[in-house]
Amino acid sequence: MDGLTSRFRDPSLAKRVIEKIRKLAPPYTVRFCHVCGTHEYTITHYGLRSLLPETVDVIAGPGCPVCVTPAFEIDRAVSLALKGVTVLTFGDVIRVPGSEISLLDARARGGDVRVVYGVGDAVRIAREEPDKEFVFLAIGFETTAPSTANEILNGPPENLSFLIVHRLIPPVMELLLGIGDLQIDGFIAPGHVSTIIGMKPYRIFPEAYRMPTVIAGFEPLDVLFGILMLLRQVREEEARLENEYTRSVTWEGNVKAQRLIHEAFDVESGYWRGLGRIPSSALRLKDEFSEYDAKRKYDITVGRSRELMPGCLCHLVMIGKIKPPECPLFMKACTPQKPKGACMVSVEGTCSIWAKHGVRGRLRAQL
Ligand code: SF4
Repeated sequence: MDGLTSRFRDPSLAKRVIEKIRKLAPPYTVRFCHVCGTHEYTITHYGLRSLLPETVDVIAGPGCPVCVTPAFEIDRAVSLALKGVTVLTFGDVIRVPGSEISLLDARARGGDVRVVYGVGDAVRIAREEPDKEFVFLAIGFETTAPSTANEILNGPPENLSFLIVHRLIPPVMELLLGIGDLQIDGFIAPGHVSTIIGMKPYRIFPEAYRMPTVIAGFEPLDVLFGILMLLRQVREEEARLENEYTRSVTWEGNVKAQRLIHEAFDVESGYWRGLGRIPSSALRLKDEFSEYDAKRKYDITVGRSRELMPGCLCHLVMIGKIKPPECPLFMKACTPQKPKGACMVSVEGTCSIWAKHGVRGRLRAQL
């Protein structure tokens, strides 16, 4: 067992961190928001919420890229699949509902929809089948955008184009701060995204919004340390940008990956499912790569979209306004086997995580 692993498996260290959290917890409620599906998994799977004092609440923001993909983008991919274009995308995405049907439904109706592990697979498949037309539905945050950019910059085959639905995390964090009745007292910033973008883009939160912000990793102890660091800032009435995930995140981030993003994409305002249009939150292919843009290559105008199924409260779950059990459909009409909303589809969706790990997590937390 190496030093890092032993640190994260040391229950006495976890106990000491939790004791410190309990000592620092204020008598009034503080609410810390993360924006990462993996953080939600760690918190729920390991039952971390049940270890926190009652006055410390952790809410899940829009950190699931599959969940925030707008229905009309799924509709576009469905329309392509039904027209004979082969759609390639990640596993979770094919089950996400569009306005009427999902890509999985499109496959059942004869469309060629294939799951790939990454954009590299899409390029390989397109090269192996030069007589077919392919579209890669590229979703994800700053973490996956560099891989898409890299393939585009390397010149993919002519029979492959891209439906780009990449979204950016700092702008949606800013949006959350503008939601009047959503009390947020600190951000737990996402580890994966921060590995790419570094600490710099988060300066705005303490500097302009006086919002304590801590970048945290994904082990249970990372999250607990992140909460402790935020509580210290609250106690000191200070707002700082701090980095708990120093083993992966630097001030500048991955400059090479950032360069790939900037060479392939422009930043524009983008629509997020259930949240509306957010300024400077989306990536668009630069004009010089328009030949790879599926929206320009094909006529895929779609009608008015329906973002949420009747009764689905994903838009409230995704901003942490409610927790999944507060949705009347949770584990009744909406289950991981028969999801009604995007938050129940992806492994990173808050409803799916609560459905699969909620009870087990509460039993697991016995520190
Ligand atoms: Fe939507 Fe299902 Fe979550 Fe309710 S439980 S918010 S219907 S995904």
